[in-house]
Amino acid sequence: GLRRALERGEFALHYQPRVVLPDGELCGFEALLRWHSAELGLVGPTEFIPLVEENGLIVPLGEWVLLRACRQAREWRDAGLEFEAIAVNVSPRQVKSDAIVAVVRAALANCGLEARMLELEITESSAVFQDPNCLARLHQLKALGVCISLDDFGTGYSSLAFLKTFQFDRIKVDQSFMVNLAADATNRAIAASMLALAHELGIPVLAEGIETEEQVAFLREHCAHPGGFEVQGFLFSHPMPADECTRLLGARR
Ligand code: C2E
Ligand code: MG
Ligand code: MG
Repeated sequence: GLRRALERGEFALHYQPRVVLPDGELCGFEALLRWHSAELGLVGPTEFIPLVEENGLIVPLGEWVLLRACRQAREWRDAGLEFEAIAVNVSPRQVKSDAIVAVVRAALANCGLEARMLELEITESSAVFQDPNCLARLHQLKALGVCISLDDFGTGYSSLAFLKTFQFDRIKVDQSFMVNLAADATNRAIAASMLALAHELGIPVLAEGIETEEQVAFLREHCAHPGGFEVQGFLFSHPMPADECTRLLGARR
């Protein structure tokens, strides 16, 4: 089904707003893939991304995602709607492919989108950050002017050495460290240390999975960055279809 889904047009992108605190201004969106399967109904990415990574379909699918997200950003800009950036998840498998730099360059050129408006989110993966070819590609992408952020920081192949080998534009603290902060002293300690680490390194932070005011209060206390900090989560907005984002952007004008 996944193999045919791309040609059948069964994939769609939803967009989750990113908000800057303390002001609460919307600053951008993260594009999140959805599969409307004729046989299975709506399938979330946690179910099918591992499969397409394994069978290699992530490479053409990731290319489609990049182009679709850049087109959407261009449409919003053309309509005079203002936001700073659109973030796209990029799988390690894509960074392992030689084509990635050309694909990103082509997506930007095709849509006439400024490179600084595109942020590529890459999850921690030893396969990428310890491979000289992948690192070279990440440097080439940065040289195009796109931002590179480290997604799901603190999970998976967590190694602080990654922070020495590549200068990330943003660190996204994984939502698992933001849950149950009042009762969970370990999560409090880890989250506070991650925020302090990013601050000391001078890397802007985005906290994922923010669902409660209590989490916001914790972040206000621990995020020392003078420019504020970004958050994403159900407290502010769920991921939503493009037309709902268009309405949201329009209402801010
Ligand atoms: P991610 O990049 O870390 O994306 C954030 C996930 O957290 C999204 O799940 C989002 O819906 C969810 N989320 C946002 N706010 C909250 C909250 O307040 N509470 C909770 N519990 N969850 C929240 P989603 O859309 O199911 O995506 C899951 C993962 O699938 C993504 O994690 C990303 O790793 C992957 N993914 C999604 N789209 C793509 C894509 O186009 N390409 C690739 N390679 N991976 C993708
Ligand atoms: Mg992400
Ligand atoms: Mg994440």
